[in-house]
Amino acid sequence: MTEPADVVVVGMGPGGEEVAERLAAAGLDVVGIDGRLVGGECPYWGCIPSKMMTRAAGLVTDGRRVVGMAGGAEVRPDWSVVARRIREEATDHWDDSVAVERFEAKGGRFVRGWAHLEGPRRVVVGGRTFEAGTAVVLGVGASAWSPPVDGLAGTPFWTNREAIEAEEVPHALAVLGGGAVGVELAQVFARFGADVTVIESGPHLVGPEEPEAGRLLAAVLEGEGVTVRTGVAARSVRHDGHRFSVELAEGRPVTADRLLVATGRRPALDGLGLASLGVEPTGGAVPVDDHLRVVDGVWAVGDATGKGGFTHVAMYQAAIVVDGILGRPVVPADYRALPRVTFTDPEIGSVGLSERAARELGIEVRTGTAEVPASSRGWIHKAGNRGFVKLVEDHRRGVLVGATSMGPCGGEVLGLLTLAVHAQVPTRSLRTMMFAYPTFHRAVEAALDDLDDAPA
Ligand SMILES: Cc1cc2nc3c(=O)[nH]c(=O)nc-3n(C[C@H](O)[C@H](O)[C@H](O)COP(=O)(O)OP(=O)(O)OC[C@H]3O[C@@H](n4cnc5c(N)ncnc54)[C@H](O)[C@@H]3O)c2cc1C
Repeated sequence: MTEPADVVVVGMGPGGEEVAERLAAAGLDVVGIDGRLVGGECPYWGCIPSKMMTRAAGLVTDGRRVVGMAGGAEVRPDWSVVARRIREEATDHWDDSVAVERFEAKGGRFVRGWAHLEGPRRVVVGGRTFEAGTAVVLGVGASAWSPPVDGLAGTPFWTNREAIEAEEVPHALAVLGGGAVGVELAQVFARFGADVTVIESGPHLVGPEEPEAGRLLAAVLEGEGVTVRTGVAARSVRHDGHRFSVELAEGRPVTADRLLVATGRRPALDGLGLASLGVEPTGGAVPVDDHLRVVDGVWAVGDATGKGGFTHVAMYQAAIVVDGILGRPVVPADYRALPRVTFTDPEIGSVGLSERAARELGIEVRTGTAEVPASSRGWIHKAGNRGFVKLVEDHRRGVLVGATSMGPCGGEVLGLLTLAVHAQVPTRSLRTMMFAYPTFHRAVEAALDDLDDAPA
């Protein structure tokens, strides 16, 4: 027997939950399904608890920075306070009752279980079959991916889940992967006393970002006692029941009590039954058009679409899907001004294209750069002031197509740059703008000065 519904949402992460709540609030009969927790990765094992960690680690380091700038301070980091805050304030002990109640209060029906498709409108979960009259929305997200390194699969390595749930700081931590998740958690655990080694096979940390950002971050981390090994791949992993040993393609092996594998995430499509829609994954992701449609009556949102593994991408797409399902005019998805923030200290904010990516697209590129410590605010700030602003201009069109703001509050300074890329504000118009003194974002003005002098 099939159960009718207007809309069935599979996966209630930030994207699916947003769609399900908004459609339920609009009066549709919405069934929301999740095998784990309503809210998905972001509130339980992702953005929110990891940013609680970076906030705590920032406080520890700011306490230490008092010396030489404001007198004396004794800092005694205590991880149990952070772990308790994650358990009690962020995740409710990994319990989603509040989120389920919020959805049900809007009229939604929640089903816990792992669902699969049996055609465009049929969703099967735990022996029940739902038939969606209007739409099915796939918000199944992504899972941590581990590389096929010899010996790794059989070992008790950490993914982001175990790292977020950690009750103790390991004495020694090896981190495989120098992307955003790896470097954020590496810095956090190092600041709480772990002896951390980051292993990154690419030439620099935070691979897709400007190389300058990766190199500066490596220097900052090394200054804090983290060992950074870039350009070297892990060849094999062993665990002797107590410790890990990571054999590298060159150099000494890395030994550690814990191994965090942070080598990326892949859309969670196993067993979903995508083939029953007559479509194949594209690049491992659910193929979508610019209205987020997969096939007639089926939409997808979030990490599953492979358009950018960020909560703000999932929420942005969710708004488009809601408009599409409600038959409102849809503004097609546009990822030109996709902002990204790596919440290390200093933060790395970036938007749009890197210089290299812009050149590869054949754009006539001009760049302008300014160092944060050379700005008034950076100089005042002193301890922890490292960073830079880099602008990537399409010289022919006279607009920014990408930018990086690394430094204290780099993610906040990014807002101005995201607006410029999104709205295609002419660079000459940015040149006539006033920048409040002495803010960090005045480095943008200095980078525009540098752009003026740059050859195309
Ligand atoms: C450590 C870490 C830190 C992060 N920090 C940030 C950050 O600071 N800022 C940011 O923007 N992003 C951050 N992210 C990324 C962010 O968490 C994701 O982009 C976001 O959660 C994606 O949302 P989503 O809707 O695609 O689905 P997800 O959050 O991945 O949730 C998908 C849900 O679908 C469910 N599901 C999957 N398959 C099925 C099925 N077949 N049946 C039923 N249920 C299913 C899962 O149980 C899950 O609950 C971080 C990620 C990690 C790991």
